[in-house]
Amino acid sequence: DLAGKTAVITGSNSGIGLGIAWEFARAGANVVLNSFTDDEDDHALAQKITDETGVTARYIQADMSKGDQCRNLITQAGRCDILVNNAGIQHVAPIPEFPQEKWDAIIAINMSSAFHTTAAALPKMRQFGWGRVINIASAHGLTASPYKAAYVAAKHGVVGLTKVTALETAKEPITCNAICPGYVLTPIVEKQIPDTMKEYDMSREEVLDQVILQRQPSKEFATTEQLGGTATFLCSDAASQITGTTISVDGGWTAL
Ligand code: NAD
Repeated sequence: DLAGKTAVITGSNSGIGLGIAWEFARAGANVVLNSFTDDEDDHALAQKITDETGVTARYIQADMSKGDQCRNLITQAGRCDILVNNAGIQHVAPIPEFPQEKWDAIIAINMSSAFHTTAAALPKMRQFGWGRVINIASAHGLTASPYKAAYVAAKHGVVGLTKVTALETAKEPITCNAICPGYVLTPIVEKQIPDTMKEYDMSREEVLDQVILQRQPSKEFATTEQLGGTATFLCSDAASQITGTTISVDGGWTAL
């Protein structure tokens, strides 16, 4: 039961972040949605969560590629009992051709943002005597794939930051863990399908089964609801002694 808690989820106007926001709201937490846009649709998502669950849901625009906006998101949120660092982007290219600006953007959004939000959130968690930091890393925080240099580096970095955050809060009622999803069928994955179909001359079904789910032994995508459930578990009393570690939700990927 997360009643009375406020959860801030970065990058949560779609996909996994939105799924986690819904699960938190269903568990009674007030939620803050975020992305870099400020559209009617963004605010409508928050309204829908409020209408259907009765919690206070707000949308706050902040660009997670900018350190000061990351910190300002936490300031604007007021309370931040639960912080989910979820915002992320992908770019696929061999290292010599990897565009410098893509490297910088992925490191900033997928990794450095978590440092900035955590720095701003920990004093608030300490003030209210309880906290949960949940970093959405990836199977690519534990293993690698070619052509994903920036993403794999950033996600490994997030796992490292998770351990440091856990050690700095170890004696307090605050935990920090990373969830490492395998593939989840969200826009970040959808965007990779058309190019892969062309590259391998495959149908959509063949790409999903033979390329994308190739390393996921279950041959099933994890769902955003399942990731919401994992995040909600990490906020429970049962998870109080789980800190500084990773939880894989990857259909067996990292067992291979
Ligand atoms: P998604 O594209 O649906 O979600 C990404 C979110 O980040 C969106 O809400 C987007 O608006 C937001 N975002 C992007 N740039 C931002 C910025 N500059 N500032 C603020 N918000 C920004 O994809 P998703 O699959 O839901 O990804 C969420 C997280 O899960 C990412 O960190 C991703 O790396 C991770 N992940 C995804 C998968 C998967 O298979 N989908 C697997 C492992 C890890």
